[in-house]
Amino acid sequence: MKLTLSYDELTNCMRCGFCQPACPTFQETGIEAASPRGRIALMKAVVDGMMDPDESFQAQMDLCLGCRACEPVCPADVQYGHLLEQTRDAIERHEPRRWWVRALRRTAFRQLFPQQRRMRKVGGVLAFYQRSGLRRFARKSGALRMFPPSMREMESILPDASSQGVVERLGTHVPATGGRPAGKAGMFRGCIMDVLFAETNVNTVKLLTEAGFDVVIPDTQNCCGALHAHSGEMEQAKELAKRNIRAFRDAGVDYIVSNAGGCGALLIEYDHLLRDDPEWAELGAWFAARVKDVSQIIMEKGRIPKFADAAGESAVEGRAAASNEAAAATAPPAAAPPSPTIVTYQDSCHLRNVMRVGNAPRDLMSRVEGIRFVELAGADTCCGSAGIYNLLQPQMSTQILDHKMEHVADTGAHYLLTSNPGCLLQMKLGIERAKLGERMQAVHIVDFLYDRLSK
Ligand code: SF4
Ligand code: SF4
Repeated sequence: MKLTLSYDELTNCMRCGFCQPACPTFQETGIEAASPRGRIALMKAVVDGMMDPDESFQAQMDLCLGCRACEPVCPADVQYGHLLEQTRDAIERHEPRRWWVRALRRTAFRQLFPQQRRMRKVGGVLAFYQRSGLRRFARKSGALRMFPPSMREMESILPDASSQGVVERLGTHVPATGGRPAGKAGMFRGCIMDVLFAETNVNTVKLLTEAGFDVVIPDTQNCCGALHAHSGEMEQAKELAKRNIRAFRDAGVDYIVSNAGGCGALLIEYDHLLRDDPEWAELGAWFAARVKDVSQIIMEKGRIPKFADAAGESAVEGRAAASNEAAAATAPPAAAPPSPTIVTYQDSCHLRNVMRVGNAPRDLMSRVEGIRFVELAGADTCCGSAGIYNLLQPQMSTQILDHKMEHVADTGAHYLLTSNPGCLLQMKLGIERAKLGERMQAVHIVDFLYDRLSK
C-alpha cells in the first residue's frame, strides 16, 4: 500500500466528517470504520505502519460500495474512489487465493469480459437456457437451490440475453436523421450491456441519430475495465483502456457516448488511469475529455427530439375513464382529473458522483409530454448494486435495497427509470422483493424515451 497509495490524497482528508451522512454503509451501521473518514484513517494507519492490513481492515474495504457519494460532498475534494482502487490493487497483489478462485477470476477478467466474441457466445448459451425450457425445468426441479440465494434472486430477474449485439443489428455506422449532423458520436457498447441489454444499445443509437448525431460503433472496442479496476486488476484495466482509446481515436469521433453510468465513470477517468504512462497519458486525456452520457450529450449538444407518452395517454385515458366511471355515481365526470403516468428516477452513483451528471436525465424526462415526474427521496444514494457487490455482500446490499424500496413505493410511480444496467437489475429485484410488480416497472431511461419518440 505504501507503493500504490497517494500519500498526498490521504493527507488531504481533514477529518471533518461532512462525508458521513452521504455514505450508505455508515447510514446502515453507524460505525466510524464503515464510513469514508474511517476508511481513509484505516488506509493511512496501514501506510504509516501503525497497523497491518488484516482481515478486519479488508472487511471494511470490501464493505465499501465504491459508490463515491462521499466525493461531491467533500470540501477538501478528496478523491476517495482513487484511494479505494489503489488499496484494492495493493490487497489483490498480496491476496493468497485458492486455485479455483484464481482460475475463476482469470477466466472472467482476462478470457471473458475483454473478448466480445466470447461474451456473445455466453449470451447465446444464456439465451438458449432462457428460451428452450431449460430455465423452467431448472426452476421447477429445484436445481437452482444449489446456488446461493443472492444468485438465485439475480437469475429470477435476468433479462433476455442475446448473441446479437448492436453492431450485428445496425452495423458500425448509422447516419443522423435530418439536417446538418450535430457531431460524430462514437458509441461505447459495453461488454455485459451488449449481451443482456442489446435492445437498449440499439435504442441508444436510434435516439442519438434522432438527436442529430452521426453514430459510429467501433467494432474493435472492448470492455471498459471498470470491473477490473474495482476488483484490484489495475494492469488489465489499463490494457483495456489503451485498446479502447485506439479504437475510438481511429474512428475519428467527436464524442464517446456511454449509456451505462458504471462504464462511463471509468471511461472519463482514463486520463487518471494512464497518468503515469508517458506514451499514453496524453491520449488518455484526449479520450476522457470526449466522454459523455447519452442524456448529457442530447441535452448539451443535440437537437432534442419531441417525446410524448402515447402509451401513457391511453393509460391516462383508461385510468381517467375508470376513475370517471367510479366517480359517476357520486360526482359529475368532469370533476375527475386525468391521472398522468408517474415516473421516478434512481441515479446511477457513478453517473452522478463521478461523471457529475444528475440534471440531464431529469431534464430529458421533463420533456416527455403526458408524464408527471416525482423525485425519489434518496435517489442520490446507492441502490446496493455496485457492480458485483450484490453478489459479494448480499446482506448489506439487500438491507440498502429494502430501505430504498420504501421510498420508491412512496412515489406512486408507474415507471422507475435508471441509467445503468446494474442499477436496473437491482431495481427489478427491489420491485419483486417489495411486491410492487403490479403497479410499476423498472426501465432504462433510454428505452423509456425511445418508446416515446414522436414518430
Ligand atoms: S468530507 Fe472529505 S475531508 Fe472531510 S472527512 Fe470526509 S473525506 Fe475527509
Ligand atoms: S464509496 Fe460509498 S460506501 Fe464507500 S465510503 Fe464512499 S460513500 Fe461510503
